[in-house]
Amino acid sequence: MKFGGTSMAGTERIRRVARIVKRQQDAGHEVAVVVSAMAGETDRLVNFCREANPLYDPAEYDVVVASGEQVTSGLLAIALQALGAQARSWLGWQLPIRTVEAHAKARVETIDADALIAEMQKGVIAVIPGFQGVSEAGRITTLGRGGSDTSAVAVAAAVKADRCDIYTDVDGVYTTDPRIVAKARKLRHVTYEEMLELASVGAKVLQTRSVGLAMKEGVRVQVLSSFIDDDAPAADTIPGTMIVSDEELEGMDMERQLITGIAHDKNEAKITLTRVPDKPGAVANIFGPLAEAAINVDMIIQNVGRDKGETDVTFTVPAADLARSLDLLEAAKSEIGFNRIIPDTNVAKISVVGVGMKSHAGVAATMFKALADRGVNIVAISTSEIKVSVLIEEDYTELAVRVLHTAYGLDAVEA
Ligand code: ADP
Ligand code: ASP
Ligand code: MG
Repeated sequence: MKFGGTSMAGTERIRRVARIVKRQQDAGHEVAVVVSAMAGETDRLVNFCREANPLYDPAEYDVVVASGEQVTSGLLAIALQALGAQARSWLGWQLPIRTVEAHAKARVETIDADALIAEMQKGVIAVIPGFQGVSEAGRITTLGRGGSDTSAVAVAAAVKADRCDIYTDVDGVYTTDPRIVAKARKLRHVTYEEMLELASVGAKVLQTRSVGLAMKEGVRVQVLSSFIDDDAPAADTIPGTMIVSDEELEGMDMERQLITGIAHDKNEAKITLTRVPDKPGAVANIFGPLAEAAINVDMIIQNVGRDKGETDVTFTVPAADLARSLDLLEAAKSEIGFNRIIPDTNVAKISVVGVGMKSHAGVAATMFKALADRGVNIVAISTSEIKVSVLIEEDYTELAVRVLHTAYGLDAVEA
């Protein structure tokens, strides 16, 4: 069972979580619980690091931001004990949850679950702080924002759980963020592949890595609400959204939708380099240093060459990596040979995702037309087999998501 930040925000909510957990144990399950920091806490800690130094040491950042989950794991264990349950916390370095060295975006390598399993079999509820691990060198690492989902799936795989229930502040995965589009529809099932793509383009209900890991390890994942009454249906009846394989979905004999959902991402920043030499090797000089710093470049456009053999190159990076990116590019200025560097954080990426588009033409055209009709300008475009993404001005995010939700016929019909 995993509980997110909103579910863990304050003692009252932690008590509610404890009751939900205890109910599962009372129903005869052995349970491990992964928790997030209280809502807003990780942001607060990240800001401290930024204030201290915008180009902070990622290893020390991890020491700071991992602390939020230490607090909630201890508190949940206390709340469970208050209900008469046996419970204890295991911090990432205590289990341990081993990760690669990549600070602030580490990947789980192994989890030593022997002690955990032994205690669970004795009836102890294991409480594990999400988001954190320990590197080979013995230093604290974190798994990237939203990483508690990945911790939960990793723990579920390590203890060979029957299911990994992700309890959050919505009751499942919707066709788009239900906080933006009131007519979003809840999906009973979504395939790993679709969920992976939705998550990777910003549907933050599950961290992308958690979906990839669940797919690889064959972990059954359900997304459901923690804001439920004591007499709500048990998680075993699958009241939320189940992530399923393609074969499983086919067996259900449902009509496949062309488009599964629409996602938005305001956490990207756009960088334009002007007057880059239009010659072989120029782009390699730009993206080499970013790759070495493990900065993920997403959308890339190289504009039509100007005269004098020069061109402008525009691309996006995670907003959290913007300061570092600008620093690296400035340092490589003479090697790359650009004139100006123009950063822009006032952008959002809107994506349409659906396996159905593999065999359907016209998905992108519908998107461009719907946005054009509402006067939304497109700055950049990228596509994959099952996704079309556009970059737009951030102020138009909500409008764009709503318009596309309607354009693809996803709006819930009113009862
Ligand atoms: P937690 O703290 O539990 O991890 P998150 O805030 O990370 O919760 O994720 C849940 C949020 O994801 C919801 O409150 C919702 O606003 C947002 N969200 C974005 N896209 C979707 C979607 N397609 N379906 C459901 N929720 C979504
Ligand atoms: N607390 C971390 C974050 O806010 C991890 C998580 O909640 O999943 O990103
Ligand atoms: Mg989350």
